[in-house]
Amino acid sequence: MARGKKIYEGKAKILFEGPEPGTIVQYFKDDATAFNAEKKDVIDGKGVLNNRLSEYFMTGLGQIGVPTHFMKRLNMREQLVRNCEIIPLEVIVRNFAAGSMSKRLGIEEGTQLPRPIVEYCFKDDSLGDPLVSEEHIAAFGWASQQDMDDILGLALRVNDYLSGVMYGVGIRLVDFKIEIGRVYEGEFQRLVVADEISPDSCRLWDIETGRKLDKDVFRRDLGNLTDAYAEVARRLGVMPKGTGPQKPTLVN
Ligand code: 5GP
Repeated sequence: MARGKKIYEGKAKILFEGPEPGTIVQYFKDDATAFNAEKKDVIDGKGVLNNRLSEYFMTGLGQIGVPTHFMKRLNMREQLVRNCEIIPLEVIVRNFAAGSMSKRLGIEEGTQLPRPIVEYCFKDDSLGDPLVSEEHIAAFGWASQQDMDDILGLALRVNDYLSGVMYGVGIRLVDFKIEIGRVYEGEFQRLVVADEISPDSCRLWDIETGRKLDKDVFRRDLGNLTDAYAEVARRLGVMPKGTGPQKPTLVN
């Protein structure tokens, strides 16, 4: 399928105009960045795995009635998604303390939280995606109260789904980040889960061994990132053996 003009290039993905109005082609790169792009590398095969894994999670969410932007996978590195207006928030759900929450609150990594905790960060790389409260969100008009109620509902449903799917393959969902988009249908707007859901945006720990199977492998130099992501894909049956990651090119 011919893709149109490049619309945007981010740290891990490139967006192109899609074949129909209101569609976007989302291309998954092999680039990995951490600490607000202070650490960078190209990890062979990461984009192929994330394209597949995000397809798997978004399709599963759709099947249980959680709306997402996902339409279909086009090839190894590209998927067709609905164009939406991204709300400028990173919505983070945490089941166990880790990462910035552990640092901020002095809670040991791996401590189970009393209940899932939802946090919001303002999406702005130049500011390092700072944590914000619902007060900031309302006062600055980033989302309405109705949007916030819907976002909380979506975030918790994604958490229940992903936790269950991961638990089924022996993986603990420690935390994750999602982004929410608005799609317009006539005069109405609907919120959908957008961007991607992949080991780039989740913390995934093997339940038995504690092995990290997510981007912390890259952030903390814990080994081969593609092996970790491929292990998640293998357990979920997403990529059968022998269809492993491919070299990054703009055509596969
Ligand atoms: P933390 O706030 O502890 O750094 O991250 C919490 C969760 O959100 C982790 O699963 C992390 O991967 C995800 N996350 C936070 N910020 C970003 C981001 O800018 N990009 C991606 N891909 N994931 C993020």
